Amino acid sequence: RFCKSCIEKSIRDTGQRCPVDNEMLSEDQLFPDNFAKREILSLTIRCPNADCAEKMELRHLENHLAQCQFTTVPCPQCLQAVRKSCLEEHKTVECQRRLVSCPDCVTHFFFDEKELHEQQCLFASVKCQYCELDLIRDHVESHCDTDCPKAPIACNFSIFGCKERMQRHDLAQHMQEFTQMHMRYMAEYLRSLSLNGTTPKPLRILGPSISTEDPGPAALVSACGGVRPATSCSINSAACQPTEDIQRLREMDGRLVKQDHQLRELIILKETQAGQLAELRRRVS
Ligand SMILES: [Zn+2]
Ligand SMILES: [Zn+2]
Ligand SMILES: [Zn+2]
Ligand SMILES: [Zn+2]
Ligand SMILES: [Zn+2]
Ligand SMILES: [Zn+2]
Repeated sequence: RFCKSCIEKSIRDTGQRCPVDNEMLSEDQLFPDNFAKREILSLTIRCPNADCAEKMELRHLENHLAQCQFTTVPCPQCLQAVRKSCLEEHKTVECQRRLVSCPDCVTHFFFDEKELHEQQCLFASVKCQYCELDLIRDHVESHCDTDCPKAPIACNFSIFGCKERMQRHDLAQHMQEFTQMHMRYMAEYLRSLSLNGTTPKPLRILGPSISTEDPGPAALVSACGGVRPATSCSINSAACQPTEDIQRLREMDGRLVKQDHQLRELIILKETQAGQLAELRRRVS
């Protein structure tokens, strides 16, 4: 007895003779050993499926596998081995690659991309981190930029050097409490413009170098310190130069005291100040 592949190889490699007794032996003299086959098929084996306790003769294995509840097939979606009996359920409720759709928008995606989508979906509902209002993600940014009463914002006078930050609903109160400071920032800002030509720059960028460059206006700045209104300072201080500047600051201060409209006027003023300064310099020279 030989196994088929072994004896065929032997005949091919070493000639047409039996490897045991060297007698002549050709391939057409070989025949299948049906007795051995019957013997083997009668061996009792265990079902090869993990978890299946079934034992049977080898000849019955094929039939058993066809109906064994532990037989697995690859899921067509995720290729994972799934029990045949569970495949439908797996494909619809378990499979990581099943198609699902977002409840907030109409997008479809694979289940394993769900978390990523939920973090990005523009229609997902989220809470504003400042005021806890329920919003869709797409609206959060504009809410925080324009509406949210609790979002942190810079003072309207930040371009003139006010460094205060506050929640939006505290801005009105800040504007009221910091009127004096804001007027000083304004005055310094305009003065720095007069000193530095027509390029408007926020005071905080120019920094304290102004005072070292020109002691005259710097003296005015320190004279303006404290609680005295800038108005009286502008009028009384002998250090204020040139007179056109004083005039402009005085007018400005008068308006600033009225609070509410001051900012709008200020912005208009800022837009036109390049022209005004050019005019000013012409008059001075
Ligand atoms: Zn063999
Ligand atoms: Zn089985
Ligand atoms: Zn699957
Ligand atoms: Zn979505
Ligand atoms: Zn908010
Ligand atoms: Zn301020």
